[in-house]
Amino acid sequence: MTRPFVALAAVLLSSTALADTLVSNVNGIQVGSDGKLQHFGSLLIGDDGRLKQVMANPTPRLSRFDHMINGEGKTVLPGLIDAHGHVLDLGTAQMIVELTGTSSLADLQQRLRNYAAEHPNDAWIIGFGWNQELWPDKRFPTAADLDAVVPHRPVMLERVDGHAVVANSAAMKAAGVTSATQAPAGGRIENGLFVDNATDLIRKAVPSRTPAQADEALAKAQEQLLSVGVTSVGSMSTSVDDWEAMKRAGDAGRLNVRLIAYLSGTESLAAVPHPTEWMYGDRLRAVGIKLFADGALGSRGAWLKQPYADKPDSHGLQFHSDAEMLKLAGTAAAAGFQVATHAIGDAANAQVISTYEQLSKTYGRDRRWRIEHFQIADPADIPRLAPAGIIASMQPTHQTSDRLMAEKRLGPNRLAGAYAWQSVLKSGARLAFGTDFPVESPNPFPGLSAAISRQDVNGQPPGGWIPSERLTFEQALSAYTRGGAYAGFAEDRIGALEPGKWADFVIVDRDPTKVNPQELARTEVLETWVGGRKVWEKAPRPARGERGK
Ligand SMILES: [Zn+2]
Repeated sequence: MTRPFVALAAVLLSSTALADTLVSNVNGIQVGSDGKLQHFGSLLIGDDGRLKQVMANPTPRLSRFDHMINGEGKTVLPGLIDAHGHVLDLGTAQMIVELTGTSSLADLQQRLRNYAAEHPNDAWIIGFGWNQELWPDKRFPTAADLDAVVPHRPVMLERVDGHAVVANSAAMKAAGVTSATQAPAGGRIENGLFVDNATDLIRKAVPSRTPAQADEALAKAQEQLLSVGVTSVGSMSTSVDDWEAMKRAGDAGRLNVRLIAYLSGTESLAAVPHPTEWMYGDRLRAVGIKLFADGALGSRGAWLKQPYADKPDSHGLQFHSDAEMLKLAGTAAAAGFQVATHAIGDAANAQVISTYEQLSKTYGRDRRWRIEHFQIADPADIPRLAPAGIIASMQPTHQTSDRLMAEKRLGPNRLAGAYAWQSVLKSGARLAFGTDFPVESPNPFPGLSAAISRQDVNGQPPGGWIPSERLTFEQALSAYTRGGAYAGFAEDRIGALEPGKWADFVIVDRDPTKVNPQELARTEVLETWVGGRKVWEKAPRPARGERGK
């Protein structure tokens, strides 16, 4: 059997050949295959970037190693795996006007002015993150407000929730929108403000990422992920263009984060008809197809079994009939792909579980069917996960961000299956954690903190929200390491520091088992290693005298 990827990987590795390296004197913490916390004191890394030995003793007597790195007692964790993130979008978010936290319209205008001056060649100027609720007069921005700053280039600025955009006159002209344009059903247009379904009138005119922009976005995303200790990602809704950018980075030796790709919808099958082998030294693989069953809770797009508590005439949005959902998931499964389906509301989750139950009869349990988010489940449906081999891919920081909104949408009596991590584990199902970045920060430490406390980074609410769903630290760390590896068919390579697996690890500034949840959330990464190589290091503090600028 010819395996060109393996041959290429061998060439890449030999060009950066390492000798055996001993990382000694560390406070190593990970979760064993028994689910218990495991401590280690040193790591011996082979010249291929894989682990040779993981030792309890911080200063072992070894007959032979070529380099020694003294860990100085610092805490080492396995590289964190974010099972659900949007890699290119994370990088792109750094290449647009950052409007999160703007305090006024004048603040927005100033940031737009600065960005336009710094990026004279951007054909369109895109921004994200404004929220007029934070402004003194709470007035929505208008086209005229943007025209006053950027009159000649198209500008589109998205509201923080993604449900509204404001466009300037040049953008409306480019999009063919005139005063005669009618808003579609479920949408609204007001003085350059486009709401809900009307946002597509502007969005469709925005040019898609060029290959060069995609390459830059991928590089920026990797840098950000490594800086917070994420060494592998379940790359969700990967477009064919994104996939090409990932392969370009692999070919050029610029992939440091391991990307387990889930292509966007069955339409991707035309370009990528089957799962791929691992490529580039296990840094890239297409493994799955991402589907959607419903929308999101905040915009009342999540599909619920009972009407919304705060909108009694609505059950939310059902994206597909049962037959359509079975056909989509069945098409992906027949091509050999893992299926990962977005489901937020309890009706959507029930539909996806039923779909997977049926497919399990044909394909067996080890297709590792994934439900993405599994936010609001009917408690009666949770025990259906394990028998069909369904993995709950969940995002702990969604719970802390969403809890007040979820209470409004569902009312007090329908929260028993909301963000129900402990119930999922108790049912015998597998859990994989992530953040859904850039919806949330990709930093896994606030997620670990939320998982053990059901509190936000400020310790709210006291005692935790539905505290029975709290996890132990080892359960949470496992979902962020072993769980993510299993969910991506990668547990033979990553997710734990064990002989034969990749030396993917992070050095952090505190022992997460010895601090309170708020301090855990503020953990900082000092170094990130992938495949036995240091690929990110926190910049040293400037020495005295260099400060002050
Ligand atoms: Zn997502």
